[in-house]
Amino acid sequence: MKLIQQQTEAHNLMGMTQQDLEAFFSAIDEKSFRATQIMKWTHQQGVTDYEQMTNLSKSLRDWLIENAEMKMPEMVSEEISTDGTRKWLLRVDDKNAVETVYIPEGDRATLCVSSQVGCILDCTFCATARQGFAGNLTSAQIIAQLWFAEHHLRKQLNKARVISNVVFMGMGEPLANFNNVIKAIEIMMDDNAYGLGKRKVTVSTSGLVPKIDKLREAMDVSLAVSLHAPNDEVRNQLVPLNRRYPIAELMDACRRFLEDKNRKHSITIEYVMLDQINDQPEHARQLAKLLKTLPSKVNLIPFNAFPNSGYERSTDYAIESFREILQAEGITTITRRPRGEDIAAACGQLAGDIQDQAKRKQHFEKLYDADLLKNKIEVVCA
Ligand code: SF4
Repeated sequence: MKLIQQQTEAHNLMGMTQQDLEAFFSAIDEKSFRATQIMKWTHQQGVTDYEQMTNLSKSLRDWLIENAEMKMPEMVSEEISTDGTRKWLLRVDDKNAVETVYIPEGDRATLCVSSQVGCILDCTFCATARQGFAGNLTSAQIIAQLWFAEHHLRKQLNKARVISNVVFMGMGEPLANFNNVIKAIEIMMDDNAYGLGKRKVTVSTSGLVPKIDKLREAMDVSLAVSLHAPNDEVRNQLVPLNRRYPIAELMDACRRFLEDKNRKHSITIEYVMLDQINDQPEHARQLAKLLKTLPSKVNLIPFNAFPNSGYERSTDYAIESFREILQAEGITTITRRPRGEDIAAACGQLAGDIQDQAKRKQHFEKLYDADLLKNKIEVVCA
């Protein structure tokens, strides 16, 4: 897959924040309230045809048609699970498509968005990692996933509002695409767009410590950490990034995140349950000790298998025993019910081509190459 061409977003109004739009209109001698009008038409009403934006002057509409894009993703496919989960493959440019997942649950509806095409971080249990890395999504390509889901489902489900929560847990490491993710979140939270509250948007990271600090300074959102192991020995195998930012540094970054801006909420710890790898009672006790001083809650995620992953899901007994140990130590722990398994939309299943198991060994050996790892980390932290 080729690297996504970094399109200049200067004239793609879809990915612009209110502030960007104000600057854009000021540069063409238009009043700043045009920014609010465009935000409302696009994100609240779902209108992307300038001709239909009837409170803009005719001359401005004509100018925008000639000079400003409003690029939308094309739906390549839609799969609907028996549990109501939907997975869309959305084309983001002529070479690449990403997956976006809608998960309804009672009166809450969560959208799981992608931030990159593929992923560079190579977590060994993750199907996305097997796909390689093709590039960062622009802010327009990220927010367009929410735009598409919200307006597509409003029509299909005949509802006034649909998406209540957004999680950055799709393809990619969101903090490795920092600026575009931040811009997209600003639009998600803007009252003239989707008006999502800070507790309704969750950024999930595999542990890019400097970017957690940067996020802390930039905005107040919920943070989830894909920990998956209670000690460095196990985590080095599952999340190679741990070799650069080990658990102790990651925990310190989480504490700083909560202390700053006096955040009242806790951090969500994601923990995929892998048979015999990280699911033993000793691992649960180590995890409890690690989290004792961090306001956090733990999501146990039964591993969602994909062909040739080389891992098995923990038994129900192992998962329940693990949960009980954490609970007994006073750590709120829930076991996440797998969603959309029949359409491969569950956690860690978003992927394209999968390598065979023999290649996994080679792949694994490469990950232990310190220079290679260092290069990768420099790329994602740039
Ligand atoms: S788990 Fe997340 S960070 Fe790790 S390879 Fe998969 S998409 Fe990337």
